[in-house]
Amino acid sequence: MFNIKQLIRENIKNLQPYSSARDEFNGVANVFLDANENSLGSPLDNGYNRYPDPYQLAVKQTIAGLKNISVENIFLGNGSDECIDLLYRCFCNPAKDNVVICPPTYGMYEVSGNINDIEIRKVILQKNFQLDLKEISNQVDRNTKIIWICSPNNPTGNSFDQEDICFLLKTFNGLVVIDEAYIDFSADESFLNNLKSYPNLIVLQTLSKAWGLAALRLGMAYASAEIITVLNKVKPPYNISGATQKIVLEALQQSESVKGKIKELVSLRLSLQQDLLEISFIEKIYASDANFLLLKTVDPESIYQYLVTNGIVVRNRNSIILCEGCLRITVGTKQENGLLIKTLINYSKQVS
Ligand SMILES: *Cc1c(COP(=O)(O)O)cnc(C)c1O
Repeated sequence: MFNIKQLIRENIKNLQPYSSARDEFNGVANVFLDANENSLGSPLDNGYNRYPDPYQLAVKQTIAGLKNISVENIFLGNGSDECIDLLYRCFCNPAKDNVVICPPTYGMYEVSGNINDIEIRKVILQKNFQLDLKEISNQVDRNTKIIWICSPNNPTGNSFDQEDICFLLKTFNGLVVIDEAYIDFSADESFLNNLKSYPNLIVLQTLSKAWGLAALRLGMAYASAEIITVLNKVKPPYNISGATQKIVLEALQQSESVKGKIKELVSLRLSLQQDLLEISFIEKIYASDANFLLLKTVDPESIYQYLVTNGIVVRNRNSIILCEGCLRITVGTKQENGLLIKTLINYSKQVS
């Protein structure tokens, strides 16, 4: 049986968290002399001399409305990357516990695990880029705390079979983290609506991709109130800056225009895919549920270099397991995609 109390590290369970000035006072006042802020203000006239809301209530309320979930099920991190690190620090004992990742996948699960001295058990995806459930079960033991699932997956672009993910949620007694950084580009449904059914589910999303706000650094972790409480205890008190909270609140009012951009990117992805199909040295373009395409070529290194020489940077994934020969290309604007195609055609003329 899943029991969150058994998963939390003992030192975190016993932790007396930092109590900020804003934590200790909650009432009404108009003279704030409790936090050693600059009472004369800043060079900017935005109230930036004051510490921001440590629990980002206004932002969370807006996200709760957009996603149709409760504020108590939302944690905000300085990018998803902070959420990933905090999950290690809350639940995984260094030099003792392990996690399962399914390569090829997002690199931060491994890097962050290494930083926290957590053993990384790798279960390579099947040839069709789907999860290898049997091997995952083989690798799991009593010290396995987290299974990291990225769906749609980076860099392969596909979504995992939802029944496979449900199987893991039902059978694994640790945490299943589903990183949905690219979910808005996918036809599949988010796992957000399943939080009530699975106490071990954590869904990660981010404003860095579909929302186009990578510079602001805002990632969301959605989970049971118990899990969110643990994350709040461990996070740096003011992990989301006042500037980010303010600008994000404005941006979240414009979800309709974001939906428009998502539609446009999906349609640009489809036409880019069509145009790439015409290019002879591209052997395969993998189906994508994201805002990028993974393609297999005959000579990835020289194509990569040729593109760079022509001022176009793509991601070379040739050295990654199951991605031999592959480049990952982010969907650009119509003009950028056109330039990419033109440059690839020039490359094929040059080699033939
Ligand atoms: C881009 C990406 C993220 C986003 O990370 P942020 O820290 O929120 O910018 C998370 N997960 C995956 C799989 C990604 O590709």
